[in-house]
Amino acid sequence: MPTKHQLEQRKRNEAKAKVHTNGKGQTAEPTAGKGPLIQALRGFKDILPSETKYWAFVTRVLDDIVLENNFLRIEIPMVERVDLYRRSVGEETDIVRKEMFAFTDHDHNVVSLRPEATAGIVRSYIQHGFKTYPKPLKLFTVGPMFRYDRPQAGRLREFHQCDFEIIGAKRGIVDAQLMKIGWEILSRLGLKNISLMVNSVGCPVCRPQFEKSLTEFFRAKVRRLSPESRTRLAKNPLRILDSKDERDQEIAKEAPQIVDYLCEECNDHLKKTLEFLDEFEVPYTLTTHLVRGLDYYTRTVFEYVTGGDERAQNALGGGGRYDALVERLGGESTPALGFALGLERVIVKMHDDGVEVPPPPKPEVYLAQLGELAKKMSLKLYQELHAAGLRVTESFGKNSIRAQLKHSDRVGALLTVILGQKEALEGTIIIRNMIDGVQEIVNVRDVVAEVQKRLEAIRHTNHGGNEMRAKLPDEEPEEG
Ligand code: AMP
Repeated sequence: MPTKHQLEQRKRNEAKAKVHTNGKGQTAEPTAGKGPLIQALRGFKDILPSETKYWAFVTRVLDDIVLENNFLRIEIPMVERVDLYRRSVGEETDIVRKEMFAFTDHDHNVVSLRPEATAGIVRSYIQHGFKTYPKPLKLFTVGPMFRYDRPQAGRLREFHQCDFEIIGAKRGIVDAQLMKIGWEILSRLGLKNISLMVNSVGCPVCRPQFEKSLTEFFRAKVRRLSPESRTRLAKNPLRILDSKDERDQEIAKEAPQIVDYLCEECNDHLKKTLEFLDEFEVPYTLTTHLVRGLDYYTRTVFEYVTGGDERAQNALGGGGRYDALVERLGGESTPALGFALGLERVIVKMHDDGVEVPPPPKPEVYLAQLGELAKKMSLKLYQELHAAGLRVTESFGKNSIRAQLKHSDRVGALLTVILGQKEALEGTIIIRNMIDGVQEIVNVRDVVAEVQKRLEAIRHTNHGGNEMRAKLPDEEPEEG
């Protein structure tokens, strides 16, 4: 028997479930169906079919870049121990202080959905003894990241990043090479008006002196700083430099600049990196207040931004060098660097720039069939054409030849191979050229070679537009 208290609680819950939440989403919406509509959580987004062509294009470009630059793909878990992020990203960063999707699992481990990929990749590198691999080791991953940020334009709680890491490389030329890779991706995606901001955040030798000067500078102006920057002053004064608050930005204009504090090695590294960027013809701006929001960076940091201002909510991605991180996470001291691009922001920018996504390649061959025996044989034939490397499509669910030819025409196939009752019994097959409508009968055993021969001939004459296609025969309508 439920107690009175439990019954009251149940009533309250039922009443709550009936509340309509005006589409913002966490609870119920009235629907035509029986139950209340469950919406996606705030900050979580469906990627709908209308959007997937952009994602497919991004994936194609990434695949090319990964291959051309010899990166190895790695997949890391979605969930890691919170300590990993504390020790790498840093206790005092926004990500760790405010944005972790952290929880305690059934074994009492304190874990979090991954807010970024570098920490997990470095953890994996150490755990699996990658140090014996030839260096540099180039690793790539792409997938969802999670940050419990306040959802707004350009800020989601689940978003996707592609992530490039180079482990075991210390020279400035590699910093420039990595920045060039990011630049290349954005260029190939057709994005316009992108800037690359570059800076150095020094190293454990020179940064403390800079932080001291910075703290003194901001302390003298503490009352004019935003409340958030006042708390940063004690623990992470560097972050005041890239504050989004206008008051802080005004004060930061006068702040000491790290380039004046770099030790000889850091200075030399920055100089070389910039020289190589010039050499690679990657345009950049040396941006002395760029510090990035993660603790693990040493020396080079960079960001790709739209419209030339990295302080607005418009960074497409960024990265830098993290020479101390492998050691900090328990490995041997190993120089390394990496960057990530936020794919949702990249795709929004593609829309803004009116980028036309190249359509996926059309099928070359359409396999049409008529009758039970032909249907059975078609499955094998389909695999055979596919295995020969042909782009082949079909509609096994259709019965009428006319409907299948229409479908073939609509998807833009150059040839249709037709297996009817008679052909199935005789071991032959019809090849129809969809451009001029000419049909020929060939031996079904030779179908791959015959198809390839005809495709070659079509490519030579450079036909292929739908407008040139032969009129389709009139035939019976599709039944059932
Ligand atoms: P970060 O690791 O913070 O430098 O992020 C790299 C890139 O990921 C950013 O420049 C954004 O493009 C993207 N990004 C970071 N946080 C979010 C978020 N909450 N929502 C959408 N994209 C994000």
